[in-house]
Amino acid sequence: MKAMESAPDFVVDTAKGVYVFDEHGRRYLDAHAGLWLVNAGYGRKEIVQAMAEQAERLAWFPSFGGMANRPSLDLAERLVEILQPEGMASVFFSNDGSEAVETALKLSRLYWKSKGQPRKTKLIGRHHAYHGVTYGALSVAGITANRTLFEPFVGDVYHAPAPYVSHCAFHGPTTGCTYACVAELERMIQFQDPDTVAAFIAEPVQAAGGVIIPPPDYLARVRDLCARYHVLFIADEVVTAFGRLGTWTGSRYYGIQPDMMTFAKGLTSGYMPLGATAVSGDVFDTITSQAADGPEFRHGNTYSGHPVACAAAIANLEIIENEDLAANAQHVGEWMGQELKVLSEAYPDAAQYPGCIGLLGRIEIVPGKADKPGQRALRVAQKMKERGVIVRTAQDILTLSPPLIMTKEQGQDIIDALRQALVEEMAQL
Ligand code: PMP
Repeated sequence: MKAMESAPDFVVDTAKGVYVFDEHGRRYLDAHAGLWLVNAGYGRKEIVQAMAEQAERLAWFPSFGGMANRPSLDLAERLVEILQPEGMASVFFSNDGSEAVETALKLSRLYWKSKGQPRKTKLIGRHHAYHGVTYGALSVAGITANRTLFEPFVGDVYHAPAPYVSHCAFHGPTTGCTYACVAELERMIQFQDPDTVAAFIAEPVQAAGGVIIPPPDYLARVRDLCARYHVLFIADEVVTAFGRLGTWTGSRYYGIQPDMMTFAKGLTSGYMPLGATAVSGDVFDTITSQAADGPEFRHGNTYSGHPVACAAAIANLEIIENEDLAANAQHVGEWMGQELKVLSEAYPDAAQYPGCIGLLGRIEIVPGKADKPGQRALRVAQKMKERGVIVRTAQDILTLSPPLIMTKEQGQDIIDALRQALVEEMAQL
């Protein structure tokens, strides 16, 4: 907090495509799409126009308690259509990712109460997970630094190990993956007693934790495990959906069907705040086909299904589909992953464990002897910024998540800036 007082503000004034411009007119390639979300790129007139037209027609009207507005109904329909392969049947809107997660957690407890199993209330998250800032979302999250000051958490929440192959909690970085974290999750469920566990929540790729890409079979295995023990599987797709991994969703990338999915960020590419929680037909039917005196889902935000946000989302999804941004993410991401690998091989004392899936990438910056954890990564990020490229760090990891419209030619600036920063770091040692 002290450092924030003296740090100069980086005030962005305008933006176009993959670039943002500060108040002095200096151009930066935003290799993080803001906070992992400007998937369609900046300055998209189609989205702005859809928002303006909707605001003029109907700026706001509730979408619950028997009331509705057309854009929220249209968007729900469109999402269910897009999410057919994932088996989603219905959507609940909120304002952001935290609320989308909060909704899913509450729904999971309601689901089991509706089924006559009120003891199934426990929630399982994972180490290194990010799910938001509200108490439920933070309770299932697993980044210690974000948590410690805010205890105590929501009760009956447990954490399984992350599928972090290069930093495996069981085998260390070098031995092959044996899916020991999946076995541990199974032991946890058995120990807790499956009749008391409501849901397991997982990001298909853990983003804020450091772009932790799971081994290929991990998601399918934990999904099967959850089905076997009657534990609802919530896929937190706030970062991984809408083309980021080269597919519509991370669940599709890994070939699984969750019970619930959470969305925000790329849903509108950030043009308006909007969160969504999608549920399977089974979840929807269970919570709706109740006796008149059965449990009711008493939950909703004032701005749930905000018409202007929904209009922005509809226009944004149209762009993602028409321009096949998922295919571009896959194509450019393959190249980016290769380039990161080349850099880590060229400078192993400064950068290791490169990874990229679609346009979600990472490279780990090895701290120098005198560095505190994360310090060298911050220095590298700063050096890249001086060269006009914005990235983020998660402790020692440099994370990349550019707009999905990025071309290889534009992406070359990211690689060049990273290479120069690494060369400088090596020279300073
Ligand atoms: N889930 C995941 C996977 C996220 O990455 C984030 C935000 N980074 C959230 C939930 C919370 O979203 P929001 O910040 O919109 O509340």
